[in-house]
Amino acid sequence: MQIDEKLEPILAEVLRRNAGEAEFHQAVREVLESLGRVVAKHPDYAEDALIERICEPERQIIFRVPWVDDSGQVQINRGFRVQFNSALGPYKGGIRFHPSVNLGIIKFLGFEQTFKNALTGLPIGGGKGGSDFNPRGRSDAEIMRFCQSFMTELHRHLGEHTDVPAGDIGVGGREIGYMFGQYKRLTNRYEAGVLTGKGLAYGGSRARREATGYGAVYFVERMLATRGTDFAGKTAVVSGAGNVAIYTMEKIRAFGGSVAACSDSTGYVVDENGIDLDLVKEIKEVRRERISEYARLKRTGTHYIENGSIWDVPCQIAMPSATQNELTGKDARKLVRNGVLAVGEGANMPSTPDAVRIFQEAGVLFAPGKAANAGGVATSALEMQQNASRDSWTFEQTEERLAAIMRNIHDSCAETAEEYGAPGDYVLGANIAGFVRVAQAMRALGVT
Ligand code: NDP
Repeated sequence: MQIDEKLEPILAEVLRRNAGEAEFHQAVREVLESLGRVVAKHPDYAEDALIERICEPERQIIFRVPWVDDSGQVQINRGFRVQFNSALGPYKGGIRFHPSVNLGIIKFLGFEQTFKNALTGLPIGGGKGGSDFNPRGRSDAEIMRFCQSFMTELHRHLGEHTDVPAGDIGVGGREIGYMFGQYKRLTNRYEAGVLTGKGLAYGGSRARREATGYGAVYFVERMLATRGTDFAGKTAVVSGAGNVAIYTMEKIRAFGGSVAACSDSTGYVVDENGIDLDLVKEIKEVRRERISEYARLKRTGTHYIENGSIWDVPCQIAMPSATQNELTGKDARKLVRNGVLAVGEGANMPSTPDAVRIFQEAGVLFAPGKAANAGGVATSALEMQQNASRDSWTFEQTEERLAAIMRNIHDSCAETAEEYGAPGDYVLGANIAGFVRVAQAMRALGVT
């Protein structure tokens, strides 16, 4: 899609000011492509440099993270927190530990998070953080020392009313526990609402672990319903084998679908009897091993392909749930040829712009990550509500809220796309619905 000429200078300035940050450019470009229709209908949204301000993070923090490994060597990593937009509430967004992390990646994630959080309808602003620390192969003691050092700097920028991180790639329940422990020690406060994704033993919410994956499946189910169909009897492919992928697979199965393949960063496994989720959980959540173990442990009907593209596996529903730009134009063409009906992004920006265009031109139902994976952060906001009221809800209560939020997000994207003359375009619908909510709040708050 072309960018409206009124918005071109804004993109040019973002590219100039954030040189070399390719993922951030990609995320901003995609949103600006959708906003042409908004400024055509409501020119006042282009006033007071509102869109320029939305593209500029409120605050960017970069810090040194020194720590001592098991052999006594001092290691240094770089920590980031980008506090993108607080018009709707405290900054909220995960922390990623992965060697690929840099400022541009954290900025793209924080930018996306701002619109995603707005879509949930809950009072949360957008932020994101992380480090180029590689947790793979590190002992539990090393992970703890790293998390403690990371939080030693980060804690001064957080607070339940200021900035509330959660997990993301490489950060799960274990890491959140270590970070919360260090925050509590440094501040001498039991401020449960300062982090989400906590364990149930110390203020976590039931269904938070499952929420992103389950939520993505709820979204796709609602999208399939617009074509009078559902998951029952359909074959899905889910990339990744982490938090989002595992609970996406679990819900697909609960809805009567089967999952043919899943992956990690080294390769993918195909199981002709449907992926055995208990085995994936054992390998990934308990043993913390490679997905190649799956084929070694369960020989019949399975095979493992190293470094191949999981999107070669034919399916009716594709749910990319690993990382950004993991599904290319070439993959999209293959999926379309193999008859894919719907694509739901569990990860953030996993499809390249080319891939998105190919899906949309082929009439494939396409749910962008900022809408489809919003269930995680929405349930984090429910965790904050429980912490604030010192309450603890049942799994069923929480999942019911999650399902209702996902239905609302779906409907609001669909209705917005319709209102702006692009029925069925969930990318446009999500970008505009998210933008309008943030923009209205920002206007009310004056030039900040
Ligand atoms: P995890 O760390 O639990 O799992 C990530 C999975 O993706 C692993 O299987 C990992 O394989 C694989 N992966 C990571 N990097 C790459 C890569 N460069 N190439 C191929 N595979 C890769 O993370 P999550 O499941 O939490 O996050 C997955 C995605 O979902 C991310 O885009 C994240 O931003 C997004 N997301 C997560 C939310 C959450 O609540 N956790 C909420 C909303 C979005 P390996 O083990 O080999 O590295």
